[in-house]
Amino acid sequence: MSVEFDVAVIGLGAMGSSAAAFAASRGAKVIGLEAYFPAHPLSSSHGDSRLIRLGYFEDPSYVPLLQRAYENWRALEAQLRTDILTVTGVLQIGAPDSKIVSGTRASCEMHGLAHQILDKQEMARRFPAFALDDGEIGLLDPQGGYVRPEAAIMGYLKLAAEHGAALHFGEPVLSIDQGGNGVTIVSGTATYRARKVIVATGAWIAELVPQLRSRAVPIRQVVAWYQPSDGFVAGPQRMPCFLRDDGEGGSYFGFPNIGIDGVKVGRHAHFREPIDPRAPNPPVNEADTALLDSFVRKRLPHAASMRARATTCRYTMLPSEDFLIDHVPGAPDVVVSSACSGHGFKFTSVIGELLADLALEGGSTLPHGLFSFARHFPNG
Ligand SMILES: Cc1cc2nc3c(=O)[nH]c(=O)nc-3n(C[C@H](O)[C@H](O)[C@H](O)COP(=O)(O)OP(=O)(O)OC[C@H]3O[C@@H](n4cnc5c(N)ncnc54)[C@H](O)[C@@H]3O)c2cc1C
Repeated sequence: MSVEFDVAVIGLGAMGSSAAAFAASRGAKVIGLEAYFPAHPLSSSHGDSRLIRLGYFEDPSYVPLLQRAYENWRALEAQLRTDILTVTGVLQIGAPDSKIVSGTRASCEMHGLAHQILDKQEMARRFPAFALDDGEIGLLDPQGGYVRPEAAIMGYLKLAAEHGAALHFGEPVLSIDQGGNGVTIVSGTATYRARKVIVATGAWIAELVPQLRSRAVPIRQVVAWYQPSDGFVAGPQRMPCFLRDDGEGGSYFGFPNIGIDGVKVGRHAHFREPIDPRAPNPPVNEADTALLDSFVRKRLPHAASMRARATTCRYTMLPSEDFLIDHVPGAPDVVVSSACSGHGFKFTSVIGELLADLALEGGSTLPHGLFSFARHFPNG
């Protein structure tokens, strides 16, 4: 059978849509295969907003990639003539030695990034939405803000199609087989051959990449939107996007009111509850809403009092909570993207570029050592 495509991209969510656009824009013959439709409710990439920030408490070595991600988001906006990334600042709140505050500060200092440290009085004056404990401080990352996931995915799919990519929706891939030169891809309706395959199937990644079974674990995430009861206007000026380290209570994230539903809030990794990616997401229950209601009552008393709606989403967690983006050991024509652990979206605009580099060039000048199989699983 002859090779029909240079690159097949499996999964057209965040990372797959971006990879398809980058590969097709370089002249590669691309096919994209998606089981459902763009930004569908079982994916990890729906719900209006995703945080983006430049100082990175998780690991300062993400910062050069973030700088590239910002450039690429702005380039995407220019190509589409639409807004994808909005800067509101991201306020990172907690005790000075908390992981979020101290890690972000170290990352900013290491890379010379602008940031402001605010004490409790200054935070209360500038950002009255937040209720603070004595001794807490805020670190404002002035370049932080949010990205619109649905608009970003639709934008990358539009660019991919304009550069000639064939995009098939409602076509799940059942198997991939690297044999000889290239890869055979069997979907529910057809068989394709491609020189290289990018597997970007999010919560379903272990179905096509068996090396990730019981290592890439899909978990349930819940977010809720709240309205004020006293007319408080929770716009970005008084309430920027935030991360809050609540010590043993976990860490929370949130967004100002950027639409009609109100302030959006979630706890990172929620209850760390594993799910079967093939089953519908378990519906929002009382324990979910009790957790988030209690957080907003205590921490956002003016901005968020009445719950307007709540929904579920999926994180795919790797043990280190870093991303895995690499050629698959033993299948060098297959490139895998497991870029979630609850913090991947902001990187979509650079991970697509990285995936296209790995598939088309065999390597990349973008820093990606943190994401290798060998680093994640040194014992194979
Ligand atoms: C509630 C929530 C809040 C988050 N907040 C942030 C944030 O503030 N900032 C941030 O940076 N990140 C955040 N994240 C993480 C970020 O959204 C994810 O890292 C990112 O969306 C993952 O994208 P993906 O392309 O890997 O997966 P997805 O977008 O889920 O795409 C995978 C696609 O593959 C398809 N697929 C699966 N199997 C097959 C198959 N066999 N054949 C064909 N197609 C298949 C699926 O249908 C799906 O469309 C959050 C995630 C959630 C859930």
